[in-house]
Amino acid sequence: MKVLHVSAELYPLVKVGGLGDVMGALPQALKALGVDVRVLMPGFPGVLKGIRQEGEAGVIQGIPGVGEARLLKGRTPADIPIYVLDIPAFYDRPGGPYEESGDSHFKFAALAWAAAQLGLHGDNARWKPWIVHSHDWQSGLTPAYLAFGGAPRPATVVNIHNLAYQGIYAGGLLSDLNLPLESFHIDGVEFDGNINFLKAGLSYADRIITVSPTYAMEIQRPQWGWYLEGLLAKRSKDLVGILNGADYEVWSPAHSPHLESHYDPVRLSGKKICKNLLQRELELEENPEAPIFTVISRLAPQKGLDLVLDNVEYLVSLGAQLALLGTGEPALEQGFLKMARAHPNRVAVRVGFDEGLAHRFLAGGDALLMPSRQEPCGLTQIYALRFGTLPLVRRTGGLADTVVDANPASIANNTATGFMFEPESSWVLGETIGRACDLYQQNPRAWAEIQRRGMKQDFSWKASAGHYLDLYKALCA
Ligand code: ADP
Repeated sequence: MKVLHVSAELYPLVKVGGLGDVMGALPQALKALGVDVRVLMPGFPGVLKGIRQEGEAGVIQGIPGVGEARLLKGRTPADIPIYVLDIPAFYDRPGGPYEESGDSHFKFAALAWAAAQLGLHGDNARWKPWIVHSHDWQSGLTPAYLAFGGAPRPATVVNIHNLAYQGIYAGGLLSDLNLPLESFHIDGVEFDGNINFLKAGLSYADRIITVSPTYAMEIQRPQWGWYLEGLLAKRSKDLVGILNGADYEVWSPAHSPHLESHYDPVRLSGKKICKNLLQRELELEENPEAPIFTVISRLAPQKGLDLVLDNVEYLVSLGAQLALLGTGEPALEQGFLKMARAHPNRVAVRVGFDEGLAHRFLAGGDALLMPSRQEPCGLTQIYALRFGTLPLVRRTGGLADTVVDANPASIANNTATGFMFEPESSWVLGETIGRACDLYQQNPRAWAEIQRRGMKQDFSWKASAGHYLDLYKALCA
């Protein structure tokens, strides 16, 4: 079974969010199941620096806006074969991978075009995928290029990691992007007179996967369908939600290289040391009794962090502390920084992206706040479970599929793993923070039991990768 994954992110080469984590782990899990899996990525500096290069895999012809470009080959740090599309004019630029310079449509059409050419013709060593599996809008045009690229073609799968990001560009670019006129209609790439990269994938792929069962249902309804709910509902028999897994080689309090003290469900005492070290690092009051609520997140409207901002004063009034690590919307950054200035020993804010600090937040925190308005899967709450940091989440998408609210019934029947609320309301979030503080302060034994149960949950990739493999087998049959 030969499968080519196409993505703009892959941890540790390039990571903006969960897509990077998924691509850092899923190919390895599929390889362990016997799949001959390879990855295609743009030649971002982090990719070229981070792989073991093994020469050229061929030349891709006819790339929209470019003409031809070299395809390099190599191995990722996890020893997965990788193809790299070498277009320095597009990818060797300062700033993040999605920094907008007015030519993102060409940057990512080139990636999809290269994927389609590899799918149709193979590389210079005659490796040719049976399935081309693209991820998110950045490689969304791949199935469209393959649908119009002639027969025989490989089967195609598209993964939706977040439907909110679609890659929408002017309809007049159709021929510049090598898309035929026949593709420009409601069941093709057209979206309100424009070209929609993700929609192209959803229209032409043989199968669609999204990252949790609940999200797979939510996106077929207007509230979270982002105007593609009709298409997704029409394709519901080809759409499946498979929960993301966590890479416990990377995300474990027992051996994270970013921690000075380690722990596991049997020896939780190391977590107390991590908490003290985090308080010291963040210049918070070194008080073991004060529950630390942490946030590790992109500061995007989707994440519902305005609801947290509304609750900072309340949280502090309960004797708790807040530690936030994030970057994104300037208004949120400023709002949280203002709170940190107002409560210097109780609220700490770090603006930026820092992988090591994310581990220390998970290890040193008592609870993780994730009040997302919408969350396709969410990985941070899954990591929090493993770190014994109780996730406090809103009931949506993958959060609903991975956390069990601690209420009298779930505490009694030993199923609670965190806290959950539903209405998108600052007041209800505040009430839930209050509930968490009460349990922490009044019933430390119950808290510790929930911690241990969370740490033992198994959201590893093994089971999820098996579902991907089943889908591949059905597709090839
Ligand atoms: P999303 O993909 O929507 O950003 P996920 O919860 O699926 O959300 O994945 C987020 C990933 O990005 C996690 O690995 C999380 O630790 C990481 N992350 C988010 N913000 C930061 C940050 N400011 N610094 C370090 N890691 C971060």
